[in-house]
Amino acid sequence: MLTTLVKNRKSAFIAQSCRCFYCDFPMWESDCSSFAQTHKISLRRAKQFQCTAEHLVARQDGGKDAAQNIVAACLWCNQTRHKRKLAKNPSDYRSFVRRRLTGNRQYHQVGNDVFCVVEIMGGKQSVATKLGVEEIEIEHWIDDHYVPTRYAEKIHELTGWSVWSIQVPPVGWG
Ligand SMILES: [Zn+2]
Repeated sequence: MLTTLVKNRKSAFIAQSCRCFYCDFPMWESDCSSFAQTHKISLRRAKQFQCTAEHLVARQDGGKDAAQNIVAACLWCNQTRHKRKLAKNPSDYRSFVRRRLTGNRQYHQVGNDVFCVVEIMGGKQSVATKLGVEEIEIEHWIDDHYVPTRYAEKIHELTGWSVWSIQVPPVGWG
């Protein structure tokens, strides 16, 4: 027997076309590794896109498990929203997250903005040469979804692209 919460999470997942209420990224329900393969991201990164039930009105504020109070949100958004000292209300948080993501439209398509920038710039080897770093360093950036400021600036100089979104620090940083 599924609990009301799980049932409502599943219906929200389907109603939202398997995408997170906040960031609009695709999410997975049960198969993390095939999700990672499909979106060409590491398993560690893929774990953050697990579908969770999000209470629009938090439980601690009297929010219920009823369908109208439950949306499907990725683990990352769910945790990040509640990690803030003053949790934003759902619609503020939603626009906050989307504003952060609009810097790079490719972000949504591949689920990994750093990977995408590297691909557009001709692949790991070519980027390593252009930036004067080792290829392994670039693999770490892809894995962490994060390019150190110095190199993000250099990519900006080389390409003229807005690279704000490749500077979103990994979960748990700061
Ligand atoms: Zn999300």
